[in-house]
Amino acid sequence: MTLRTTADLLAAGLIDPADAQALARVADRYAIALTPAMRALIGTPDDDIGRQFLPDPAELVTAAHESPDPIADDALSPLKGIVHRYPDRALLKPLLICPVYCRFCFRREHVGPDGGVLTQAELDAAYAWLRARPAIREVILTGGDPLMLSPRRLGAIVAALSAIPHVEIIRVHTRVPLADPARVTPALAEALATERAMFVAVHANSAREFTDAAGAALRLLLAQGIPLLGQSVLLRGVNDTPEAMEGLLRAMLRARVKPYYLHQLDAAPGTARFAVPIEEGRALLAALRGRVTGLAWPTYVLDLPGGHGKVPLGPSHTGTHS
Ligand code: SF4
Repeated sequence: MTLRTTADLLAAGLIDPADAQALARVADRYAIALTPAMRALIGTPDDDIGRQFLPDPAELVTAAHESPDPIADDALSPLKGIVHRYPDRALLKPLLICPVYCRFCFRREHVGPDGGVLTQAELDAAYAWLRARPAIREVILTGGDPLMLSPRRLGAIVAALSAIPHVEIIRVHTRVPLADPARVTPALAEALATERAMFVAVHANSAREFTDAAGAALRLLLAQGIPLLGQSVLLRGVNDTPEAMEGLLRAMLRARVKPYYLHQLDAAPGTARFAVPIEEGRALLAALRGRVTGLAWPTYVLDLPGGHGKVPLGPSHTGTHS
């Protein structure tokens, strides 16, 4: 059973009773969910999995530079469920529910178990908006996590997007295959079938998330002919050493997930304990140069505050990787 309250976490021995009161205040503000698959990987609350999903009293402290909407999703939303940041692509967020609630999430003020499921009328308005904009060639389904939808609802959304003539690419961003692999059934994988180019970007931050069950879930997606991309966030205490990052990138490749983006942490409220300075991130990646295959190399990026898009952070490439 997914653990969703501080009482659940206390009963499971995952939080310190001395912190219970503060954590109840955290839970009032930010959703909690810990799936059995992720629970099984936690050895100590402060390990690479525990840090990602267990609430911490430090979340009650918002630093001066942190913002509830660090990359301006709200400011760039022309209608409910759509974010339009770049000319050739748009985000569609059909729901704001996730399998787990990551303590560093940049949408943490918005995501949650009650959240944001678009009605059919709202979906229809989003499709009409996309249809009227032929410059948009790619729709990125995100949220929340689109694989939390039922196969029927997900399939209907994929079909509706596929029917828009200028939508050439559909990309789905998800944590489900690793965080809750049992949710990926053959029916859910089939719901992603389309004549369009479909990509699935899998969010993972630690090699240990690539369990056997996750591998099986990913193979169901691969069996649909869907290329898999990896996206990660550079996180203090999770993947901030060359060894941990190398392990993560190699685990992705073994699972046939091509590392795509490594994100610098966005300044969402109460996330400072995860911050790794950009210079340290650059040095970490530089330490991997020549040590790991070029296939494993992600693009290290920062989403500029204010919604101005992504900038690559390097390290600069002076040679070829093979
Ligand atoms: S799964 Fe994604 S959207 Fe959901 S809490 Fe984690 S980072 Fe945020």
